[in-house]
Amino acid sequence: MIIVVATQNAHKVREIREIFTGAELVSAREMGFSDEIEETGTSFSENALIKARAVAAATRLPALADDSGLCVDALGGAPGVRSARYSGGGDAENRRLLLENLQNAADRRAHFVCAVALVFPDGRELVAEGRADGMIASEEHGTGGFGYDSLFVSDELGKTFASASEEEKNSVSHRGRALAKLAAML
Ligand code: IMP
Repeated sequence: MIIVVATQNAHKVREIREIFTGAELVSAREMGFSDEIEETGTSFSENALIKARAVAAATRLPALADDSGLCVDALGGAPGVRSARYSGGGDAENRRLLLENLQNAADRRAHFVCAVALVFPDGRELVAEGRADGMIASEEHGTGGFGYDSLFVSDELGKTFASASEEEKNSVSHRGRALAKLAAML
């Protein structure tokens, strides 16, 4: 089965390829789809469905989309669905703003959430969510991964996602868990 991955984020495509090995995955870009899809949903699942529906309709192939983010307890769940746009800048600015906003916080608990949606051209839809729990470190550790990885200390790994190998991260990550659930549903 050929599945189009509906994301422009090369890091996500790479992780999805490593975890979801049961199908031939092509990126939306490779299928000539480069439209910006507006994420107007209020939940990760809604946004994943919006992206997968748009790409399935345009390519007439099954489309897989990921919507994910970091929810920090002391910030009332922020940045949440706005994780990519938190500071208005890039990943480094987002991390800087997060550290700034947590400067005096005693509670540094946080979790990543990932929703994956698989939409078929005939209208069938599957959605699965995964979660990874941890803490926000007071400074960056590690050079792997992307986004908030260098600040997120995984409970299960005892180190940041950016300090973990790809296999370690995928085995406990929100994305790994969501994709494992989706594979089981398939
Ligand atoms: P999306 O494209 O709206 O799903 O944006 C997700 C954003 O959440 C990314 O840009 C990252 O900032 C953050 N994020 C999601 N998953 C991860 C991860 O596995 N590691 C680090 N940051 C992540």
